[in-house]
Amino acid sequence: MSRTAAAFCAAASSVADCAGCGCALTADEVGLTKKLINRGTDTFYCVTCLSAMFKVGEPLLYEKIEQFRAQGCMLFAGPDDEVRAL
Ligand SMILES: [Zn+2]
Repeated sequence: MSRTAAAFCAAASSVADCAGCGCALTADEVGLTKKLINRGTDTFYCVTCLSAMFKVGEPLLYEKIEQFRAQGCMLFAGPDDEVRAL
């Protein structure tokens, strides 16, 4: 798999790779994929690939991430990256 696209993704801590372009994913992107596709999915996509799949702008997806985070969704890390306990 080509890793060229990874150069454009500045994910500091990767938990998975995008199934579309192979770039490193953030926990937020993994959480967003679960929200948009399927909570049980083990195939994750970066915001860029999700925006192409759902034909929405990337800013909207980042907005969604913030919305889910604001709702206290367990899939998203807090503003301080603290892992939320159940
Ligand atoms: Zn991607």
